[in-house]
Amino acid sequence: ETMINQIAAGEVIERPASVVKELVENALDAGANRVEVVTAGGGLNLIRVTDDGSGIAEQELALAIARHCTSKLTENIHDIRSLGFRGEALPSIGSVSRLSIRSRTATGDSAAEIGIEGGRVSAVRPAAANRGTTVEVRDLFFATPARLKFMKGERAESSATSDVVKRIAIAFPAVRFTLAGSDRSTLELPATDDTPEGRLRRVAQVMGADFPDNSIAIDAMREGVHLTGHVSIPSFTRANALQQYAYVNGRPVRDKLIAGAIRGAFADVLPRDRHAMTVLFLTLDPAIVDVNVHPAKADVRFRDPGLVRGLIVGSVRQALADAGI
Ligand code: ADP
Ligand code: MG
Repeated sequence: ETMINQIAAGEVIERPASVVKELVENALDAGANRVEVVTAGGGLNLIRVTDDGSGIAEQELALAIARHCTSKLTENIHDIRSLGFRGEALPSIGSVSRLSIRSRTATGDSAAEIGIEGGRVSAVRPAAANRGTTVEVRDLFFATPARLKFMKGERAESSATSDVVKRIAIAFPAVRFTLAGSDRSTLELPATDDTPEGRLRRVAQVMGADFPDNSIAIDAMREGVHLTGHVSIPSFTRANALQQYAYVNGRPVRDKLIAGAIRGAFADVLPRDRHAMTVLFLTLDPAIVDVNVHPAKADVRFRDPGLVRGLIVGSVRQALADAGI
């Protein structure tokens, strides 16, 4: 069983940032309004995610770390509203690290805690905590030393973690996010709200206060696919830091087709070595997109890639032209 979990971990948990992604998604699935991330040693020594969400009842704690136990399955696989649904993340992480979960529900009169170390589960014990959940991951990959060798160093891992939090935070403007642990990657993103203005304020928190004034709004629709968001004007780009955020039905994605379409849209107005800063939200019928190609869930597969590419290239070019660029 530990072996199976370690194999699953190899698929889903590549580096500290993957742990942070899974834990933050769990916090959001639990309805958190505040998500706090603390790391040490680039996340290899410590990752701690604290939320004020629904919490886990004492008698469910052991289930939360059991393989394929999820509280989130719905009948329609295309209609997955929550971010997680495979019940793989916690057992996978617990098989390669020292993991502890401390949690308290709204109705529970005290908190409880469970631990798992390299796959070995401890008994549930009482603990002290406010409502919500704290998941602590220490010594990531201590149980799989071969994996440790692939880590890129503290700064690179910290900045990957910061990138993950930023990516998710743009999709959840009403949630407050903090990230602490290394100077380079500290974040404090106060809650805004889930309106166009609130979403743009969150984008400005992440991409810089000067981004909105140096960007163009996109709002286009083609055959039921809706594209909204902002792209930077060509004169406002930052060298090397690739700041392109894309969302499909509210989920962060990292997709070659979308990145290629952005490149195509800017091909005539940007030198090859510069990249536009973009935040794009695609909304479409969940039946014509598969967002679950890989367990890490960053890839997407569109039923009609040409439609999506054409929409992005066409509407971004049009918006640039309308702005006289
Ligand atoms: P999944 O998210 O795919 O269901 P996970 O392994 O990430 O699988 O989590 C297993 C289960 O543990 C979840 O279905 C949920 O019931 C519970 N859980 C995990 N993290 C939290 C959290 N922060 N708050 C409340 N429940 C949680
Ligand atoms: Mg999950």
